[in-house]
Amino acid sequence: MICHVCNGFNQIDFFCEECGGKMNDMGKRMDYEDKYSAYLTDLYEDNVLECEHLLVCTSCFRDRVVGIRVE
Ligand SMILES: [Zn+2]
Ligand SMILES: [Zn+2]
Repeated sequence: MICHVCNGFNQIDFFCEECGGKMNDMGKRMDYEDKYSAYLTDLYEDNVLECEHLLVCTSCFRDRVVGIRVE
């Protein structure tokens, strides 16, 4: 079971809900656990089949976490 985004097979193609800007993949959420743990707790707790990536909008810098399906 690997994440295709982590391994470079796929690129995340998400757009910002606020401004429609392109969102950059900042890597796995776990790498940012300390900084973001305040509000990310329990978001995807039950879904072990997803690799969580932190995305940041290139325009307004809003961030969000998305679960990438692991195959
Ligand atoms: Zn990943
Ligand atoms: Zn934005």
